[in-house]
Amino acid sequence: MDMGISGLRVLVTAGASGIGREVVRAFIAEDAKVHTCDVDRDALAALKTSDPKVTQSVADVSDRDQVSKLFDDALKALGGLDVLVNNAGIAGPTGKIEDIHPDDWDRCLAINITGQYNCARLAVPHLRQSQNASMVCVSSLAGRLGFAMRTPYAAAKWAVVGLMKSLAIELGEDGIRVNAILPGVVEGDRQERVLQAKAQARGVSFNQVRDEALAAVSMHTMVTPQQLADMMVFLASPRGRTISGQAISICGDTQMLA
Ligand code: NAD
Repeated sequence: MDMGISGLRVLVTAGASGIGREVVRAFIAEDAKVHTCDVDRDALAALKTSDPKVTQSVADVSDRDQVSKLFDDALKALGGLDVLVNNAGIAGPTGKIEDIHPDDWDRCLAINITGQYNCARLAVPHLRQSQNASMVCVSSLAGRLGFAMRTPYAAAKWAVVGLMKSLAIELGEDGIRVNAILPGVVEGDRQERVLQAKAQARGVSFNQVRDEALAAVSMHTMVTPQQLADMMVFLASPRGRTISGQAISICGDTQMLA
């Protein structure tokens, strides 16, 4: 289906692997122009080989100097900006609150929420110049529910929803739409690592933790990165032009979202 976004200028953070990489591919497949960043140089090099049209920068979203350089690179490569996908985020530490080191707390919030602010503040002046401007902030199901043993992650992902809601109100009259997606249990390496860490912290098996996670999902299934990317393309497209200020759960779930 032609989503009507050919030529749209898109910046996706953390696009070298995982969900971000699928988002990059999905926009490229619709003939959008994409710039991305990541901290992983090897993964960026692999992306350059597989998707040579995608321009890129090495940048950590929690570092303001690097984000400033990222925007210089992105604006030079794209010639402006229509869409920011604030995707970069880390799982953060797993453990009881008293066992979480303050440095791990700070780092989790620095990347997962301050990183989104760092990118949003530089994006907005350019989005104001666009005729089809939008921002998608990646939160998590942890941004709607509590998440035992992952307190810094859940706190940051709730903050992402607060950032999104506030920006949607603030920027609506400028024609800039702002939404968040809240992925549930997503297929991929990161999910394996998170479930493994949780199993270890609780002293139970990996299979038990995975089965519990899927039992809590109504459809008992994981979400794929491609399904998340499809929603982001839709939100950025003219088909999504009346949608703003929404926190959209993509998790195959009904029973947990009371
Ligand atoms: P991931 O761990 O697979 O990492 C994806 C990329 O982020 C990697 O290439 C990594 O190098 C890059 N990255 C890490 N820190 C960075 C930083 N400071 N600056 C720039 N790039 C950085 O993660 P993912 O599963 O692709 O998750 C993407 C987003 O989706 C995150 O915001 C995450 O919290 C959210 N999310 C993921 C899941 C899941 O199960 N995978 C579930 C809910 C929400």
